[in-house]
Amino acid sequence: MEPLQLKQAFKEIFDTEPILIKSPGRINIIGEHTDYNGGLVMPAAINKAVYVAISKRDDSEIHLFSESYQEKYTGHFSSVKKSETAWANYILGVVDGFLKRDLTLSGFNLYIYGDVPLGAGLSSSAAIECATAYALAQLNELSVAKMDLALIAQKAEHEFAGVNCGIMDQFASVFGKADYAMMLDCRSLKHEYIPLKLDGYKLVLLNTNVKHSLSDSAYNDRRAQCEQGVAWVKAHHPSVEFLRDVSEDMLLTHVQPQNNEVYTKCSFIVAEIERVKKAAAALKDGDLKELGRLMLETHEGLSKAYEVSCKELDFLVDQVKEVDEVLGARMMGGGFGGCTINIVKDEAIEELIEKVSKLYNEQFGLSLSAYVVQTGNGSEVINL
Ligand code: ADP
Ligand code: MG
Repeated sequence: MEPLQLKQAFKEIFDTEPILIKSPGRINIIGEHTDYNGGLVMPAAINKAVYVAISKRDDSEIHLFSESYQEKYTGHFSSVKKSETAWANYILGVVDGFLKRDLTLSGFNLYIYGDVPLGAGLSSSAAIECATAYALAQLNELSVAKMDLALIAQKAEHEFAGVNCGIMDQFASVFGKADYAMMLDCRSLKHEYIPLKLDGYKLVLLNTNVKHSLSDSAYNDRRAQCEQGVAWVKAHHPSVEFLRDVSEDMLLTHVQPQNNEVYTKCSFIVAEIERVKKAAAALKDGDLKELGRLMLETHEGLSKAYEVSCKELDFLVDQVKEVDEVLGARMMGGGFGGCTINIVKDEAIEELIEKVSKLYNEQFGLSLSAYVVQTGNGSEVINL
C-alpha cells in the first residue's frame, strides 16, 4: 500500500484528513544477547515499516483500524488498559505511557498498515509502538525527546505486550538512518552511526518460519548464568556491574573453576561484545569481508557455546558459509527460530534463495521466506 492509498483508506473510514507517519522494523548486524549484559549491539533500521495515518477527534475516544486484521478497536482515555485485541495493545500501551508522563493528548483516529513481516524477528512490534509514539507527539505538537519516545515504546512492550525487551528495537526504529548501522551502548544509551556501505552486496534474511517453545526458558536460563558469572567475579572485583565489565582473564580465574558451563556462556558474551567493536572498525575501513567473518564467528558461538540456535538456523548457515558470494551469515535475534542474516553478492541472490529454499524444504518439509532488505530511516513524517 502506497502512502497515498493509506491516506485514502483512512479517509474512507474516518472522513477527515490525516497526517502520515512511518517507523521501520530493524535488523541486528552483530551483538546478540549482549543487551542484557550492559554491552554493545549494532542494529540498523530497514526499508520495511509500520505506517500510521492519524487525526484528532473532538472527544477523548480512541478509534483504531488495522489494515492487516481488517478490524476496528474503540476505546476511551478514561480506561486505557490491556485489551483482548492483541494488535491494539501496542498502541494502547503507548497511549498509556504518554498519559502516565502527564502529556496531554486529544482523542484520535488511527489507521495502521505495515509491511514488516509479523513475528519474523524484524520487530514489527517496536515499529508499531514507535510509529504510534511519534504520531501522538506530532499530532499533539508535544516536544518529547526522541529517546523518550523510544523509552515510552519500550515500556508499552513490557506492560501491554508482556515482553521484557531491552531498548535496541525501539531505539533502532526511532533513530535509524539509511546507509548506517548504529553501535549502541545498552548501558549508557550512547550511540554512534557506523557507515554500512554494501557496494555490490545486499542483506538477505532467510526466515526459518519456526519458533521453538524452548525460547523463553532458555532465555531466562542464559540471563541467570550471566548473572551468576558476574556475581562470582564481583566478589573479587566489586566495581563489576555487568559482563560488559569483565575480561576473559577474570572469567578464567573466578568463574571457570566454579562451573565450566557458566564460564562457557559468559565467555561467549565477553567475546561477542569485543566482536561488535571489531565489526564497527571493519565497517569504518570498508572491510565487508572481515564483517562477514565476524558474523560467522558469532553464529558459531551462539550455536556451540551459548546454545541458543536450532537445527533449522544451523542448516541455513551451513548451506551458505562455504559459498564465495556470501561474505557472512548468522542467526539473528534471541534464537530457537526466526531469521538468519546474510551478506550476499547482488548477482548471486536470486539463485541462492532458490537453491536454499529447495534444500530447506527437502530437509524439514517447511517453506523458507526470504527478504532482501536495505537500510532505511527511523521514525518520520511522510509528506505527500
Ligand atoms: P516481531 O516484533 O518479531 O515482528 P512480535 O510478536 O513481537 O513479533 O509482534 C508481532 C505483533 O505485532 C503482531 O502479532 C501484531 O499484534 C502486531 N503487529 C505488527 N505489525 C502490525 C501491523 N502492521 N498491523 C497490526 N498489528 C501489527
Ligand atoms: Mg517484537
